[in-house]
Amino acid sequence: MTTDRLLSVRHLLAAAVIGLALLAVGCKAADVPVGTLLGSDETPDLSRPTGKPEFDRLDPVLRSAFQEARAAAERDGVRLVITSGWRSRAHQERLYEDALVKYGSPEEANRWVATPDQSAHVTGDAIDIGPTDGAIWVGQHGAEFGLCQTFANEMWHFELLTTPGGTCPEMLTDGSVRR
Ligand SMILES: [Zn+2]
Repeated sequence: MTTDRLLSVRHLLAAAVIGLALLAVGCKAADVPVGTLLGSDETPDLSRPTGKPEFDRLDPVLRSAFQEARAAAERDGVRLVITSGWRSRAHQERLYEDALVKYGSPEEANRWVATPDQSAHVTGDAIDIGPTDGAIWVGQHGAEFGLCQTFANEMWHFELLTTPGGTCPEMLTDGSVRR
C-alpha cells in the first residue's frame, strides 16, 4: 500500500470516529432533559457585569469560582462554558411544566427538573457546565474551587457545596430527594 493510500485510509477512519462521537453526543443530548452539556458559545468574562442576567444574577462567589476553574481547565487544555446559569422563576416554571408533560408525573418530572421553589438556578446558586469534557474536568477538579456535582444523574450541574480545597458531599441520587 502506498503512503498516499495509507493516509486516505487514516482519514476515512478519523472521519468515522468523529462521526460516531457526534452520534453519541447527539443521542446523549436527546436524553438530557434540561441542563445540557452542549454549549458552543463562549462564556464571557464574569469578573465584570456582562449585561446578561443568566450570568450577572449568579452568586458572585460562584462566578469567581467558575472563573478560576475555567483558567485552571484551560491550562489543562479543556474548555469550560456555562450552558445554563441563573433562571427566572417563569423560565423554571416552563421547564417544569414541560417535564410534567414529558415524564407524566410530578414524581418522575422532579427527578430531572426542579420546581421554581426548589431550583438552585433560580436563586443564582447553580451552573450547568459543558461541553462533556468540561463537565468531566469539573467533576474531577471542581472541589479545588468549591464546585461540586449535586446530583448523580446530572453530570453538568454544579453548586458551591464545599469550601475551596474541601471535600464535596456525597451526591444526591437525583433532584427528587432534595430537601
Ligand atoms: Zn442545573
